[in-house]
Amino acid sequence: MADNKDVIICPACGCEMEKVFIPDLGINLDVCSKGCGGIWFDNREFKKFDEPHEDITPVVEVLEGKEFKNVDDDKLRICPVCGMNMVKNNVSAKHEVTIDECYGCGGKFLDFKELDKIRSQYNTEEERAADAIRELYSLAGVELTAFTDEYEKRMENPSMLTRLIKLKYK
Ligand SMILES: [Zn+2]
Ligand SMILES: [Zn+2]
Repeated sequence: MADNKDVIICPACGCEMEKVFIPDLGINLDVCSKGCGGIWFDNREFKKFDEPHEDITPVVEVLEGKEFKNVDDDKLRICPVCGMNMVKNNVSAKHEVTIDECYGCGGKFLDFKELDKIRSQYNTEEERAADAIRELYSLAGVELTAFTDEYEKRMENPSMLTRLIKLKYK
């Protein structure tokens, strides 16, 4: 299990990742703010993302308006926590978005570029946001089976996740 206090070295670009404290969840996420814009989640952290309204705005604020280096997402990545080879998984066959997953410690790495792929698949903001949310939650092992009226209402007041996917990849 990852120790939140350890510095995580970005598995995509080798930069030190920045700890971003999320008050709503009481955890730190690791964000590659000086390198590629990727986000590292350890297993325990992912389990916290079980409600669509949970707010990780601080991550958005760290990433917003920055330019990130391009990384080769086909390259094999090594888990920065436990040293195992990470496995590329399609989180959705339809959208061809792959993430790197560590079966050793349960860590997951999401490229900033992968968010952009999600972004570019849809004609409307609403459609894209809805599917991107579903995508990100499926990453977290949470299946959103239906978008209810209640959920649509929440979408009018975008959660961190919707705002995150609206960030422009440069
Ligand atoms: Zn990076
Ligand atoms: Zn690992």
